[in-house]
Amino acid sequence: MKTIHINTSSKKYDIFVGNGILKDSGSIIKSLNFSGKILIVTDDIVSELYLETVKKSLEDSDFSVCEVVLPHGEEHKNMDSIMRIYEALQKNGLNRKSLIVALGGGVIGDMSGFAAATYLRGVKYVQIPTTLLAQVDSSIGGKTGIDLPFGKNLVGAFHQPEAVIADVAVLKTLSQENISCGMAEVIKSAFIKDANFVDMIESSTDFNKDVEEFIIRSIKIKKEVVEFDEFEEHERMKLNFGHTLGHALEKKLNFKGITHGQAVAIGMCLITTKADVKEKLKVILKKYNLDTETEFSANELVSGAFNDKKAEDDGINIVVVNKIGNAEIRKISFEEFYKFYE
Ligand code: NAD
Repeated sequence: MKTIHINTSSKKYDIFVGNGILKDSGSIIKSLNFSGKILIVTDDIVSELYLETVKKSLEDSDFSVCEVVLPHGEEHKNMDSIMRIYEALQKNGLNRKSLIVALGGGVIGDMSGFAAATYLRGVKYVQIPTTLLAQVDSSIGGKTGIDLPFGKNLVGAFHQPEAVIADVAVLKTLSQENISCGMAEVIKSAFIKDANFVDMIESSTDFNKDVEEFIIRSIKIKKEVVEFDEFEEHERMKLNFGHTLGHALEKKLNFKGITHGQAVAIGMCLITTKADVKEKLKVILKKYNLDTETEFSANELVSGAFNDKKAEDDGINIVVVNKIGNAEIRKISFEEFYKFYE
């Protein structure tokens, strides 16, 4: 098992990465000097696969454990699900000294973190991410939230977890589509910060063998960025490479029939104008079964991008990669953004 230490201004915590470590959740959480009640938040797919293992491990470490099982999917990342978490916390008598354990993908992680940030003005939580995307990205860095009917992730809070337990073995049950979705974020991390990592992803011939290294290297990139700029004042925006047009594409499609990672993959290709970077990006994305084009022109997506959270009154922050491994944040006016695609 590898441990990566995160040191942000609001919290220091460890990320544990290993093969088969789900069964060690109890002893890991015990080592945090925590002794209160635990609510596991999970979804109906993940609960069938992994709830018993985590529950048993926690009970074997003498924790009193209860759970709430929510329906899976982005369409349930909303206030109704948050109410169900609050109800479970209330009914089971959890208090400020209790702990929430998020067992699932990014949807469960974001919602559990938001419930933890807001219930009784803040309780502690631990992330046990079970998708590749959640292991390399959403479980780290403390961004939590839910969607509103008019947009994604519009309500949320920064709330860092007490620990992250990423078991590589759970990825064996993940669909190919969700593996590709996570790879889009892995590829994003490499392109913004680490040219050697880009080469490694390109030359990899055995995903199952290399995935643990992909996860560790992606976490280290996110660590560096989040430690430098926890509240996304500038540097952290680099993690949004591909996301501005990616979100616009998801919105255009009403968030149906496209995964977040697939949208980010297309968003990265659209925003990249430097020929050699674009060519390599496309080759690598295709290798991991990600589309690099959309039927919509970039111009059709641009107006959608203006409603993105990254838009400000006088323009929009875009992230560009003109040299592999080196991202830049550029603030451009709305007029320039349109011209960018002429
Ligand atoms: P998800 O949580 O919806 O999981 C995808 C599907 O995989 C679900 O149906 C889930 O039940 C299933 N699943 C999960 N683990 C499994 C496993 N081990 N085996 C089989 N099936 C499994 O989606 P996701 O891609 O993990 O996360 C997407 C969400 O993450 C979005 O809401 C996005 O906004 C958010 N996100 C947040 C951050 C952040 O910093 N907080 C960053 C990136 C993305």
